[in-house]
Amino acid sequence: MRKNIVAGNWKMNKNLQEGVAFAKDLEAALAGKTLKCDVVIGTPFIHLASVASSTKLGVAAQNCANKVSGAYTGEVSAAMIASTGAKYVILGHSERRTYYGETDALLKEKVVLALANGLTPIFCIGETKDEREKNIHFDVVKRQTVDALFNLSAEDFSKIVIAYEPVWAIGTGLTATSAQAQEMHAFIRETIADKYGKEVANNTSILYGGSANGGNAKELFACPDIDGGLIGGASLEVEKFIPVIEGF
Ligand code: PEP
Repeated sequence: MRKNIVAGNWKMNKNLQEGVAFAKDLEAALAGKTLKCDVVIGTPFIHLASVASSTKLGVAAQNCANKVSGAYTGEVSAAMIASTGAKYVILGHSERRTYYGETDALLKEKVVLALANGLTPIFCIGETKDEREKNIHFDVVKRQTVDALFNLSAEDFSKIVIAYEPVWAIGTGLTATSAQAQEMHAFIRETIADKYGKEVANNTSILYGGSANGGNAKELFACPDIDGGLIGGASLEVEKFIPVIEGF
């Protein structure tokens, strides 16, 4: 059975002390609650080791290099991330695609390295506003999935978590309706089933991201193909993140 996951993405927010304090506060606030999902915190690179050693919650990096090691100044490899104790890496976030020119071909290399180092990629896909208005959103999401992931064996693909994040909903306050999100999640699952079969598709966790918060998480997570969320703004404060986690 696929897992329910609520993953925070801090982006470039919080200094080291604030990050460690957040992780401890969140863990303390969740202690004693019966959780119906795994909880992951996506931190900047420099927080990873400290946060991973101060909490039993899942920890994710927000990117990794497409190279194994060597003369790549400023890059951080998947092996380095794994050595901190982090278990996840967010790849293909629309901010990486838009601001840093990350392509499906580059992301394909990063996914392979993440898996080779035992990390679970949380792989982001999603269309822009323009692409939805042109009614090519299904084509875009399919292309992103096929071009970056469908080189994987079924065994490796089954280690991937997908995050459907319509770009027009990220950080804008415009959440996809639960019907829009469910429609796309069902399409993504069908696309996976066509390539890897129904069992792999049914076992793949597909998260929704885009202005999800404590007010809309319950309705989104109640949809049959939505297995959790990738949460930006609402993951920056413990009091705002907990109601999302409790959306399950
Ligand atoms: C994100 O950064 O992945 C995200 C979904 O952000 P927000 O929740 O702020 O829209």
